[in-house]
Amino acid sequence: MLGVYSACMFVDFLFPKRCINCGEFEDFLCSECKSLIKIVGFQMCPNCKRKSFCGKFCRGCAESFYFDQLILCFIYDRNTVLRKLVVNFKYKFLRDINKFFVSILVSQFLKFFRLSEDSFSKENVIVVPVPMSKQKLKVRGENHAKILAQNFAKKLNLKFCDALWRNHREDQVKLKRHDRLVNLQNSIFVKDEYAKFLAGKNIVLIDDIVTTCSTANECSKALKNSNVRLVCVLALARG
Ligand SMILES: [Zn+2]
Ligand SMILES: [Zn+2]
Repeated sequence: MLGVYSACMFVDFLFPKRCINCGEFEDFLCSECKSLIKIVGFQMCPNCKRKSFCGKFCRGCAESFYFDQLILCFIYDRNTVLRKLVVNFKYKFLRDINKFFVSILVSQFLKFFRLSEDSFSKENVIVVPVPMSKQKLKVRGENHAKILAQNFAKKLNLKFCDALWRNHREDQVKLKRHDRLVNLQNSIFVKDEYAKFLAGKNIVLIDDIVTTCSTANECSKALKNSNVRLVCVLALARG
């Protein structure tokens, strides 16, 4: 029987990797297109978007937010290469893109969360994905935030916990900001069996693309209601 590695080699031989942006036979992204993707060098306040090194709120901006920090990986503005990567990741689920995203999530987290400096013991850090409703899961097949979160946790040897669940509501993308907030109210909960386990823990909440942060905020509200100590939202980009 073929081992996993040789099976992968065999697949690569049958279907040589092509750059999803320009079609060049090299990798899922050729080196030239990869260089077009910009990694976030400093974070910003999640509310007013002023420069804030670790993505924490500035004075007066934290009101009505339940999370403590937002760490982003990529700059999303009109960057078509990144958009293509995300679409390919969401709808075709390419193994290589997942690996690439996870490696950047890890390096940004280590840079901006400072696991070692802030006296956080790994024991008290729990990785939680933004949940997908059952209905949406049926259509999509996978919760991509969950896959990213699992791989991220594995890479850093942190605990993973699929702690949240979500009621089905209208797709956020189609709604205006105010309607999004109303639509989301009381739609995300901590699963009963994890409520005790989460108390006092530091949560890394993983999402793929955040827009207004309203979903991440609703997740954080549920987590804080279970007495978690801190929520750090870690996402690929802000759309
Ligand atoms: Zn290319
Ligand atoms: Zn601010």
